[in-house]
Parts: sequence; structure tokens; C-alpha cells
Amino acid sequence: MKRTHRPRPGDSIAAMPAAALLPAETPPFAELVYPLATPPDSGTTVEVAPGVHWLRMPLPFRLDHINLWLLEDGPGWTIVDTGLGTEKTKQIWRGLFADRLGGKPVTRLICTHFHPDHMGLAGWIAAEWKVQLWATRMEWLWGRMLSLDDSDHAIEVGIAFYARAGMDATGLDALRQRGNAYRKGTVPPPSHMRAIGAGEIIQISGRGWHVHIGSGHSPEHACLYAPDIDVLIAGDQVLPRISPNVSVWGSEPEDDPLARFLATIERLRAIPASALVLPSHGLPFRGLHLRLDQLARHHGIHFDQVMAACTDWRSAQDVARVLFTRELDAHQMIFAIGESLAHLHNLERRGQLDRRLGEDGVIRFRALGAST
Ligand SMILES: [Zn+2]
Repeated sequence: MKRTHRPRPGDSIAAMPAAALLPAETPPFAELVYPLATPPDSGTTVEVAPGVHWLRMPLPFRLDHINLWLLEDGPGWTIVDTGLGTEKTKQIWRGLFADRLGGKPVTRLICTHFHPDHMGLAGWIAAEWKVQLWATRMEWLWGRMLSLDDSDHAIEVGIAFYARAGMDATGLDALRQRGNAYRKGTVPPPSHMRAIGAGEIIQISGRGWHVHIGSGHSPEHACLYAPDIDVLIAGDQVLPRISPNVSVWGSEPEDDPLARFLATIERLRAIPASALVLPSHGLPFRGLHLRLDQLARHHGIHFDQVMAACTDWRSAQDVARVLFTRELDAHQMIFAIGESLAHLHNLERRGQLDRRLGEDGVIRFRALGAST
């Protein structure tokens, strides 16, 4: 039976007795269980586990929100992830800083990974509160690099990359217009940081949060697991309803990120199946191992679809139309092509696909042994 708790609008940190919120469920799960059916309203927080508070920030995309977490940290607060680097997000933070944090300061900032909805305001929050950013070295480096690169070189490299993948002229034009999208959604992350890594236990208010590293969605994504309350802050590594994007990017055009993503799925099984998972998008849920199974199956189905499509030579753009059947705008097509390449490269490295560069400059893949 699903048990749910519906917070009332305006429920605040003080009003929500955490212990009453989340009755334990016993794995294995036949389906994902969502103990909290209603997300907090903008600018408000809800305590989802002892000392762990949930807030949401808006995103101006089809995926219209991100979940952030506030952890009670002795005399202050640890913030996990920041929201996108926009004036709107800053306004919501300012309101929270003024009214909702119970008069306690922010004493630490942790970012799960470098994507702009997660690290977009790290530089601003760190400066505002004079606190250190805690992140993996790789994520911080990517955030610093992309936010500070004001050259056009990376844009040209990206356009050449998507042209080889078979993107049409309209899509390439949209890319040119888009420019350095990371820079637009980000205040540069701080120039110094505290590096975290696999196996480290971060002490927050006497509670140990174990760092688990994921890869494939981003290079060195930090997930945080607290055994004493059985809570996993999963970032984008495990999401309940959508499959985290796993893309090849122009910066490393021969990459095989799906191998790392699938390996991470297996590694995360070390975290108990009973954990309450706090994802960056969607609702908190229980059923971690079931969700890991579903994600592995999802990619298995995509592998089959790619192989079925590649009985003849296919570009990444061709494959994207097979894997993503709904209408995609130019922004979504970037992710769809990147994700298609991730499947193509993985199958190629496993010896199942061959490739050739056409006279039109487009790379196409075909099942080994297939003939036309
Ligand atoms: Zn992400």
C-alpha cells in the first residue's frame, strides 16, 4: 500500500515533525513508493528526514524544477546544490535567507555536479556567505572551465561535432545562436574549493554522509548517503521518472560515457534497497534497486533499438529519431544526438558496430556483418 504525506502550503521547517513523515517501507519493492506526494511551494521548505529539508527552484525548461536540500549543520546550514544562475533563483534564495533559515547562517555549500542547475549559483552563494564549495575536483574544474571560457572555439568544435553526427542546417544554426549556454546559466564557481571523493565521510551535525561517486551523466558526480537515517541524496545520478541524460559531447567526441553510467548502476547497489532517495528532479522515493534495474533495462532496450536500426548505415541523428519519437526542439535534439552517440559508441567498443565517414562528412554506423 502506498502511504503518502501531503504537506500543507506554508508548512515550514518548524511545523513538520520529520519522524512522522516517512514510515519505513520494506524492500523489495514491486513499484517505486513516493512517501511525499506534494513538493514544497516555491520559497518554502519541507523536512523530509531528520535534519534534511527539501526546497525547489524553478527552471525555464520543459523540466521545470530542481530539488535542492538544506541540511541542519550545527549552528548553521549546509546547502546541497544551488539552482540555475538566474536573477529569479537569487531572489528566492534571498527570501529564504531572510525568512526561512531560522536565523541561522549558511556554513557550507556542497554541489553534486557541475551542471548549471546544480552549480549555477555556487560562486554567488560562496561569496554571499563566505563559505567554501565542497565538490569533486572534476566537477569543480568543469564548472570553472566552462563558465570562464569566453572564446568561440568550443562553440565551433561543437558545431563540427554535431555536423559529423548528421544534424541538419537548422539545428546547427540553433547551436550557433545558443553560443556558450553554460556561461549564460552560471555565475563562475569559486576559485578555490574543498575536494571530496569516493569513500569519504562528510560529518554534518554529527551525522556521517558517505560520498558515492557516479559517472556517465557527468564526470565525477557526488551522491551522499547517510546510513543512520537511510537517506540518499542522489543528484541527477538516479531519477525516478526520467532516465538521466548520458551524452557524448564535442569536448570528447570519442567518449563512451554509457560504460561508466552502467558501471555506476552496479556500484550504487551497495546502498541499501530501503534508502529514501532524494533526486534532483521529481519526487523523493523508495525503491532504489528497482529503479537501478529499470535504468539498466531502459538502456538495454535502447541498445536493441539501435542494433535494429543499424541494419544499414545510420548517423547519430538517424538513431536519435528512432530512440526519441516525440517532436524535439533544437535544444532537446542536442541531448538526443548525444545520447544516441553514447549508445552507438558503447556498441562499437563492444565490437557490435562498424563505422564509416561519408563523403558528406557524416559518420555512420552499421551492425558488423550486415550487408546492403
Ligand atoms: Zn545534471
